[in-house]
Amino acid sequence: MRTSKALLILFFFTLTKIQAQDKMQTFVSSLMSKMTLDEKLGQLNLPGAGDITTGQAGNSDIAKKIAEGKVGGLFNIKSVAKIREVQRIAVENSRLKIPLIFGMDVIHGYETVFPIPLGLSCSWDMQAVEKSARIAAAEASADGICWTFSPMVDIARDPRWGRIAEGNGEDPYLGSQIATAMVKGYQRDLSGNSDIMACVKHFALYGAAEAGRDYNTTDMSYVRMFNEYLPPYKAAVDAGAGSIMASFNDVNGIPATANKFLQTDVLRKRWGFKGFDVTDYTGIPEMTAHGLGDLQTVSALALKAGIDMDMVSEGFLTTLKKSLQEGKVTLAEIDQACRRVLEAKYKLGLFANPYKYCDEKRAATEIFTPENRAIARSVAADCFVLLKNQGNILPLKKGGTIALVGPLGDNKENMPGTWSVAASFSRSIALLQGLKDVAGDGTKILYSKGSNLDADSLFETRAGMFGKALNRDHRPAEAIIADALNTAAQADVIVAALGESAEMSGESSSRSNIEIPQVQQDLLKALLKTGKPVVLVLFTGRPLAIKWENDQVPAILNVWFGGSEAGHAIADVLFGEINPSGKLSTTWPQNVGQIPLYYNHMNTGRPLEGPWFQKFRSNYLDVSNDPVYPFGYGLSYTHFTYGDLELSSRSLKGAQQLTAAVTVTNDGPVAGKEVVQLYIRDMVGSITRPVKELKGFQKIALKAGESRKISFTITPEDLKFYNNELKYDWEAGEFEIMVGGNSKDTRSVKINWAK
Ligand code: BGC
Repeated sequence: MRTSKALLILFFFTLTKIQAQDKMQTFVSSLMSKMTLDEKLGQLNLPGAGDITTGQAGNSDIAKKIAEGKVGGLFNIKSVAKIREVQRIAVENSRLKIPLIFGMDVIHGYETVFPIPLGLSCSWDMQAVEKSARIAAAEASADGICWTFSPMVDIARDPRWGRIAEGNGEDPYLGSQIATAMVKGYQRDLSGNSDIMACVKHFALYGAAEAGRDYNTTDMSYVRMFNEYLPPYKAAVDAGAGSIMASFNDVNGIPATANKFLQTDVLRKRWGFKGFDVTDYTGIPEMTAHGLGDLQTVSALALKAGIDMDMVSEGFLTTLKKSLQEGKVTLAEIDQACRRVLEAKYKLGLFANPYKYCDEKRAATEIFTPENRAIARSVAADCFVLLKNQGNILPLKKGGTIALVGPLGDNKENMPGTWSVAASFSRSIALLQGLKDVAGDGTKILYSKGSNLDADSLFETRAGMFGKALNRDHRPAEAIIADALNTAAQADVIVAALGESAEMSGESSSRSNIEIPQVQQDLLKALLKTGKPVVLVLFTGRPLAIKWENDQVPAILNVWFGGSEAGHAIADVLFGEINPSGKLSTTWPQNVGQIPLYYNHMNTGRPLEGPWFQKFRSNYLDVSNDPVYPFGYGLSYTHFTYGDLELSSRSLKGAQQLTAAVTVTNDGPVAGKEVVQLYIRDMVGSITRPVKELKGFQKIALKAGESRKISFTITPEDLKFYNNELKYDWEAGEFEIMVGGNSKDTRSVKINWAK
């Protein structure tokens, strides 16, 4: 009875969906029947907003093009006033009155900035992730924007790559969950005026740039691609992402922008993607530098590969007509791209109301609200990762004197992190401010800078772009340290705010040395010598090599770049108002030479078993294979104990389900949250299989003394992988089931699963 009711609902739901699609197609077909070739090419053109200023838009160069029907959308334009003005040109002055789509890099929040994505991923809290995207969508849409170039879901295992900050770490499963949550948060069903279209990027494999150098070549086996790198993009597509962005890099010798295998065979044929595909910034002309030919040639290649919209270059606008005349592209290919762009506008409701996102009232009341900032504050606190807490130095007690030292201790501009284009830096909260606000009057907080970001002023300039300079102190390093030591001498405890500046990660911010800059290490050493308790508050956009710091500093709290409310959130955690619960979404290596170091590696034929070093085993002479911190790692102010792993069966067959349960106890002094992680190893396969793969997790809250039994249901779906023929299936045999609080410390039981 219940099944037939469910089937009936499904039937009507599908029917309504088909009817809506038919309606959209009829609308778009009828519009396209009126369009000239030039107007069709105009829809494929996405220039930057250029010289538009409010009240003057009509006089700009871009306005002329819009009126001529040569622009499909604009990006990097904000404010309802400006967007309304430009939209009016499109819907009143152009022949067919087709509305524009307005895009922007709303990456981790809009004016209310959330932690950088790598930080957000360490919350392992999908509700929080979705909420952050929802708030970003609500604020951006209140400012006129209907399309965001997010989520960025590139798997990255190389912390030298600066854009690791913008993604969700090294794991395809966690990355897929986050991709899904972000798309849902941005889009919902696209019907409301606070729902914006997502653009999943950068398709594909951008995070696998050789040597971690941005934009560099990528080359990998199909098996690795499908099993380890593609899942998050697919998850975003499955979640209904309305658009996708091609990456800059080449893949197997073909730039992604001209890579038909990626943009059509995988994306559309295998995955059934129905949205539109945009290039990245100048992705088309860059193919000339890649060595694929002149602008006309590479524009044609992009279109034929499946690209629908050209960001910035105007290669489509200026060359496709000629290519059509010369038989290098077909009208059907141009029509298809145009249709997809028009469909996106239709799905966004822009044909029904071109001003759907132009509500001045919303702009005045829904951006950077106290409610949004409060959520950003609590989400940020849940992203910080407590890396070390020897002798329970943390949480700090209120009262007494605290010396805050370090170049990142009193700086608002760097708190939002990379890609925070809509942030107003002056309104973000620096750590000094946060400590004062949270500690209240009874605690004395002193501040001294202690060191510059880096000894090299040119490096510091590069690391302080986009208005994020750190007010360089031009005195000798010794004098700056001496001041800090004077300050420290008056304090009971030292909080050292060190690490990277916001622009030391992000686009075009790769590093070959991933340590804390030497001048800051010198400061830290001097602070440790005082014998006072030192807490390292570590700012970073990537995993850093901090073996020495981990050995020497008693307490380390990694805070990424926490967004608008960073200073408050950090203080909340330092004073124990919030118990830290973040877990790393990347492996932290001991040194740069170990890279790439990731938990879900293959076993090799000569794995190191037992102690390091062993001759003729897969290890190094000069460093063990261990990371400083493994994937999934993070401490708490309380302590969690895991009971035995209980399995519902050790021998399964076919579509049966396995339940893996473990009792987790908070046997520490305070309430806390723990991320219980499930890993599986496929012991024998037709191809080599990772030593473990994350297959599930649950973030739970336990009061002091509380125990809870946590269960995971495992089905053959969780055992599937792409084999050497790229067939997605599972293979019968032995599996190891592991559960624990990080990827290294797990309880495990082996089972057998027959077909
Ligand atoms: C970046 C993209 C971004 C685009 C538009 C490019 O340089 O790679 O991630 O969306 O610029 O700003």
